[in-house]
Amino acid sequence: MYDLIIRNARLSDEQVIDIALQDGRIAAIGKVQGSAPRERDLAGRYYLSAGWIDSHVHCYPKSPIYHDEADAIGVAHGVTTVVDAGSTGAEHIDDFYQLTRAAQTQVYALINIARTGIVTQNELADMTQIDGEAVQQAVARLPDFIVGLKARISSSVVGQNGVQPLIKAKAIQQESGGLPLMVHIGNNPPNLDQIADLLTTGDIITHCFNGKPNRILTPQGELKAAVRQAIARGVKLDVGHGSASFSFEVARVAIAQGSLPDTISSDIYCRNRLTGPVHSLAHVMSKFFSVGMTLPQVIDCVTVNAAAGLRLLRKGQLKVGYDADLTVFSVKEETRPFIDSEGEQVAGEKHLVPLAAVVAGQWIATEEGKVHELGI
Ligand SMILES: [Zn+2]
Repeated sequence: MYDLIIRNARLSDEQVIDIALQDGRIAAIGKVQGSAPRERDLAGRYYLSAGWIDSHVHCYPKSPIYHDEADAIGVAHGVTTVVDAGSTGAEHIDDFYQLTRAAQTQVYALINIARTGIVTQNELADMTQIDGEAVQQAVARLPDFIVGLKARISSSVVGQNGVQPLIKAKAIQQESGGLPLMVHIGNNPPNLDQIADLLTTGDIITHCFNGKPNRILTPQGELKAAVRQAIARGVKLDVGHGSASFSFEVARVAIAQGSLPDTISSDIYCRNRLTGPVHSLAHVMSKFFSVGMTLPQVIDCVTVNAAAGLRLLRKGQLKVGYDADLTVFSVKEETRPFIDSEGEQVAGEKHLVPLAAVVAGQWIATEEGKVHELGI
């Protein structure tokens, strides 16, 4: 009657449940009766959550700067869904879409408002790169792939243009029916205050805990007023760790004041995956245990919050009728160092180890999962 039943799975709140999957959807949760041709018993020992969603990655394989393969950053590390954050603009997004159809990982995209995407580091230094009409046409062609817009608003990207590209992005957002807009922050100009003042409900600030001078905190260590007001308006904070955009110090101070991230994302691509400091979404998530977050909080950031932020309507929650996307993992207690983008090292005590990604009902064991004989 079901395709797959996973029994005695531990949730992040320590409840133990069974879950049954059928035709790519969650069919039953709780104490599941009946049987299935494939069953797995996690013996209350292994954790299960809705499939992990990485809200900020780079996986257009042809990108000259930030490239990777979707499955290398996705299912290989227990991540069922990745959202590419602006690697492509209107010119290459169709090619990107085609290339990712063969992946086991589910891939979505935030379209860069610059038509070339990130081919160079300064895609918004030339305002003629921004073509609202081309963005609308791409969204109309690929409505199930493009889930939002991306604008990188930092000095190296915008050159002399200040917040002008962001003002354009907000206009394009309006014309596109209000798609989520993810805004990358970094060095000024423009100042973060100016950026934050332009953002509205549902917009996403990525690289939220970067350690650059134009950070979310004042020199006194308080949340900048403009950022506090933006959050109060419903602007979301996304981690986007990356090679240069995560500071333990900033995260620690912000979280201690109650400014938790809405979503934890990696900003992963092949170089920071292979040589660090990113490695994987699980590795980035684990760092947040060291700055005061709990397992349920960390899991929410890559499931329910990530799905809500990017309007992935049938994802992110364990509910009957939702997509059968799950992540099976363990929590390893072991002292191993974590390094942020500023070179600060902290002793990590708790580490998430992904064992399997279940994508639309298909069980895909990670290397670690195979060792645990969790393959089906
Ligand atoms: Zn990025």
